[in-house]
Amino acid sequence: MTSAPPRTVILWFRQDLRLQDNEALTEAIQLCDNVIPVYVFDERLFQRTDRYDFPKTGSYRSRFIWESVAELKTNLQSKGSDLIIRWGKPEEEIFQIANEMKSSWVVCNRERTREEVRVQDALEENLWTIGQELRYYRGKMLYYTADLPFPVPHSPDVFTQYRKEIEKVVDVRKPLDTPVQIPSQFKNLEIGQLPSLEKLTNGQIPNSDDRAAFDFPGGESAALQRLQEYVWESQSISTYKKTRNELLGRNFSSKFSAYLAQGCLSPKKIYDEVEKYEQQVEKNNSTYWMKFELMWRDFYRLMAKKYKDKIFLAGGPKETPLSDTKEDWDRFQAWAQGKTGIPFIDANMREINATGYMSNRGRQNVASYLIKDLQVDWRMGAEYFESLLIDYDPASNYGNWNYLAGVGSDPMENRYFNILSQARRYDANGDYVRHWLPELQDFKGGDVHTVYDLPEKEWTKHQLHLNYTRPLIQPDW
Ligand code: FAD
Repeated sequence: MTSAPPRTVILWFRQDLRLQDNEALTEAIQLCDNVIPVYVFDERLFQRTDRYDFPKTGSYRSRFIWESVAELKTNLQSKGSDLIIRWGKPEEEIFQIANEMKSSWVVCNRERTREEVRVQDALEENLWTIGQELRYYRGKMLYYTADLPFPVPHSPDVFTQYRKEIEKVVDVRKPLDTPVQIPSQFKNLEIGQLPSLEKLTNGQIPNSDDRAAFDFPGGESAALQRLQEYVWESQSISTYKKTRNELLGRNFSSKFSAYLAQGCLSPKKIYDEVEKYEQQVEKNNSTYWMKFELMWRDFYRLMAKKYKDKIFLAGGPKETPLSDTKEDWDRFQAWAQGKTGIPFIDANMREINATGYMSNRGRQNVASYLIKDLQVDWRMGAEYFESLLIDYDPASNYGNWNYLAGVGSDPMENRYFNILSQARRYDANGDYVRHWLPELQDFKGGDVHTVYDLPEKEWTKHQLHLNYTRPLIQPDW
């Protein structure tokens, strides 16, 4: 008697570039005896943004993705498998592979935001034409939607209410193990090459900047190493609540964001490690605060699920566009280039331009300044962040911009940041500003924050007319 041919499943990797705690991978191995892992570099993500024509994926994120995919391939090889790599449109490339391999299913971890949903819907429709299906799994959130005590359409719109309704009653599930072996037979299927980094970055391969807070090496092992370093080696987790608003250095915050955004690390894995630390070392406000921030991340994902495309629109989930902002390119350019004449804003914008990263405190300030002081359409800032951020995540980025613009789901939220008092509070000695604005080195201590108030003769003496800039709008703080 001949045995039945192996049943084949195509495992489509997306923003889940890891083997550990990967539900689609775990289920694929259960489902079929031949697993074909595939990653498609979606050509559209390396073109321009739709609305404002920025590079869709800036060079820091491109490099991070490139490194993460390369490592995923190596890790799959160490489990007896490999990674099929393609360049093009996933809905066409995956379809072709499924057709060629006569697979039974394509599986992936489901995405929930506009562009990602369009791609998965298109693939699904293509697969139907050859009698195949796309099966979805979960890999993004700390709390599974099915475990929440409310249906998505009725989920609370205010973070505090959301948090209170879940944290005492819903358990975070344990992370899934890394599979020991992945059964794969590729037959004649072309394996495909990793595209060059030149191609991904349009020839703009970024240099490492030694002023950067963290260099963000891509990949699952770098992610696990960072987790180990932040939690166990430096034990920075024990002081996170105190340090999280700082601006300089490796360990004031976790730097998990890029790993979470590309899925090199799962939020459940971080949660599990923090719980172990709490049991073995100490449990305090700071260890709790890491879980709290991961809940913010989940909250924005849930809001993206609930309000769908509205998070990207001028009026946001509230459906109320701001009447006092406009698409002012001159003001936007000054902001984007770090040339507003407000040192605290400019330093933060220089940091994101030079590294793809900015602290959470910095992001809040520059966003508030753009919208509330410069009165520029918040979508210009959000799309610029989308382009540049190494940790860009549609739900977190647009959710935070919605919140700061006051068009988000929270009916009360409309925050204004007084930039000078923020600068004095979080960069009291001016070290952060001087770190990114070398032209202001002459100004010691916190005085650096108010160079715009200095008399003309001081500007001339320090050559500020040549090296720095008068404020775009005179602040009244
Ligand atoms: P930590 O302080 O160590 O926080 C740990 C983790 O908690 C983060 O990695 C992140 O996953 C989560 N987290 C913390 N704060 C937030 C928050 N406000 N919203 C959602 N999740 C949070 N984060 C992104 O991951 N991608 C984005 O595209 C993004 N865009 C933002 C845009 C604006 C305007 C603002 C104000 C915030 C944005 N954030 C975004 C949230 C936050 O600034 C970053 O997650 C954080 O600075 C990353 O550094 P970290 O990993 O060291 O953070």
